Amino acid sequence: MTTVAALLRASSLPALETRILLEHVLGWRRTELITRDNEDLPEENVVRFEALAQRRTAGEPIAQLVGTREFFGLRFEVTPDVLIPRPETELLVEIALEKIAGIEAPRVLDLGTGSGAIAVGIASFQPHAHVWAVDRSTQALTVAARNAAKLLDADRPGGELTLLESDWTDALDPALRFELIVSNPPYIAQNDPHLSEGDLRFEPRTALTDEADGLAAIRTIIQTAPFFLASGGSLWLEHGYDQAANVRALLTARGFSDVRSERDLAGIERVSGGFLTA
Ligand code: GLN
Repeated sequence: MTTVAALLRASSLPALETRILLEHVLGWRRTELITRDNEDLPEENVVRFEALAQRRTAGEPIAQLVGTREFFGLRFEVTPDVLIPRPETELLVEIALEKIAGIEAPRVLDLGTGSGAIAVGIASFQPHAHVWAVDRSTQALTVAARNAAKLLDADRPGGELTLLESDWTDALDPALRFELIVSNPPYIAQNDPHLSEGDLRFEPRTALTDEADGLAAIRTIIQTAPFFLASGGSLWLEHGYDQAANVRALLTARGFSDVRSERDLAGIERVSGGFLTA
């Protein structure tokens, strides 16, 4: 007889990870793992759990094993084709919502949307926003489309997400203008050892690194965003822990005003942006 209690005792994974995998395999809530911890489990569930635990031990990210990750209070589908949404990126969504508060039907653009976490997060909490989300990966757009369909109210006044295959702004209609542009671009430098550690080994490399100094995608976005910003609109970018000063300098050089950086919950300057007044 195999029980939750026995599996928790025997597992070499951290208890939290064992619990997440068990919840997934059994379809149970966290509280059921406690109240039903001495129930005999069906053999097929035990086999599935052991297989996932083994893959986790070999390094695969929990989010990919269970196929979802919570972000901004929403449960996003995650596949190996998209970056796993990270808690520090919630700061970018918070800033976005603050910038468009008070605008009647704000137009928002998310560059390199991946799973759609940022775009769907904004659209979900500001139902009047018209949100465009682009990515150059068709596989990522498929995941973003499913997340939008699942997480957004079909009757939201701002309508569905507009998803577009585009390398940054390349395929966007040049007549489009946005009150807000946001992006969490690949900002890890090509030679950063973190790329071969932990979850990052299993995420799309193109979502993580620009294969340059970590600022190449950010430079491109800062250079092109002004062509798509409405007057008074702003651009906000997530970046690495040591890139804030560089990003502010790039924004200022491109003519942005009121340039500033915001700190994430760990106290790190994580998002920088500015306004286009001309
Ligand atoms: N924040 C991610 C990490 O360091 C990187 C994501 C990105 O490059 N946009 O793992």
